[in-house]
Amino acid sequence: MSGEPSVPAPRTASRPQGPCVLLKHGEIFLKGRNRHLFTERLHDNLRAALRGIGGSTWIKTAQNVTVLGGEVPQEALLERARRVIGFNSVEPAVRVPSDLDSITAAAVDALGGGTRNGATFAVRARRRDKQFPLTSSQVDAHIGARVLARVPGLRVDLARPDVTLAVEIDRKETYLSWRRLPGLSGLPVGSSGRALVLLSGGYDSPVAAHRAMRRGLACDFVHFNGAPYTNPSSVYKAYALARELNRYQPPGALHVIALGKAQKQLAVAGAGRLQVVAQRRLMVRTASALAARTGAEALVTGDSLGQVASQTLANMVAVDEAAALPVLRPLIGWDKQEIIDEAGSIGTAGISVLPDEDCCSLLAPPRVSTRAGLPQLRSVEKRLDLDEVVEALVASAQVHRPGEEVDEPAQARECRPPVRT
Ligand code: ATP
Ligand code: MG
Repeated sequence: MSGEPSVPAPRTASRPQGPCVLLKHGEIFLKGRNRHLFTERLHDNLRAALRGIGGSTWIKTAQNVTVLGGEVPQEALLERARRVIGFNSVEPAVRVPSDLDSITAAAVDALGGGTRNGATFAVRARRRDKQFPLTSSQVDAHIGARVLARVPGLRVDLARPDVTLAVEIDRKETYLSWRRLPGLSGLPVGSSGRALVLLSGGYDSPVAAHRAMRRGLACDFVHFNGAPYTNPSSVYKAYALARELNRYQPPGALHVIALGKAQKQLAVAGAGRLQVVAQRRLMVRTASALAARTGAEALVTGDSLGQVASQTLANMVAVDEAAALPVLRPLIGWDKQEIIDEAGSIGTAGISVLPDEDCCSLLAPPRVSTRAGLPQLRSVEKRLDLDEVVEALVASAQVHRPGEEVDEPAQARECRPPVRT
């Protein structure tokens, strides 16, 4: 649709009038008695997302809708709200007092303010307040007639309109919206508990983290790098990825653990073709111990079945056996291209594509075993004091909270000194 109508400026401060944003609730409207808990969580997350926006804001709830407004530009509200998980759609809107004259005037302003000549429109009113003197279809007809009379060049088309003007009538105020942006849907982050994501620098694990968040898991992250045998490039990527992911949730922590020496110990113990799976087992053991500190009830990885040799069913079973917590794999049935496309839309692809020195390629055998047997893995692991190794790894973790600086202007963020390694 060309020629978006512009939002009329506020008229008076005291009456409910001016731009706002309508956020249509997603799956939480299916919840029964607990729905208020989900709504509270959603609003907490929305408030967290609005932090540092640079002006006062307010939120209120009508049935299955959250209304957001404030003394900041509507575009800024939209930008923040679109990253909050749990809304099906995000709609720029204008609110007016619930009387027919105000509603009609706002509708004429909205559709007259830049709609393309020759465009078609439809009015769809909904009364949440059944006391309103007109029925919904009477409101539709009344507004439609006034718009036709006052805005030349528009036509009504109820079947396939270019612009649909939604009019939602509450007891005191009415919201008019005519642009609908898709939200992220899903459940409010935190409503399903906490998870610890094994975050590499690749495409998969950030997408897996995002999917986990969309099912209501608040995520912390752990990244293993190959220090002291690799450069810190993978840590920079993990930091940038966690910062991007934290824009979708109240910021989680990133734990960075240098795995290089322990990887060498496994190699010296004769892991051979089992090296990669043995490393992965060490990662989930360490992550499980770390989870006790972060309060996580599950681990999340970016595994997709059969994508690479280390991700065969047998190898995943071997990894799971070493984990003290359930290992969730949101991407188990995803193709690589689907994952890359999703990474593009959530904003992590541009970071994942950068080159790095990944700890998994350090000491990787020329051919990875696709069927790592538990007895062989155990006999390699027996040559290390695993408890001691895991304890030392957890104790050595460096903790960061990427994204706590999101309130700063973008330029200041870019200049932030690199992460310690
Ligand atoms: P990704 O794109 O997420 O790196 P991948 O296709 O490279 O995945 P693997 O390297 O086999 O696959 O890793 C499988 C999963 O193991 C990753 O998705 C991630 O969850 C975890 N993982 C791998 N390497 C690391 C690491 N260095 N630090 C933390 N987790 C890791
Ligand atoms: Mg990887």
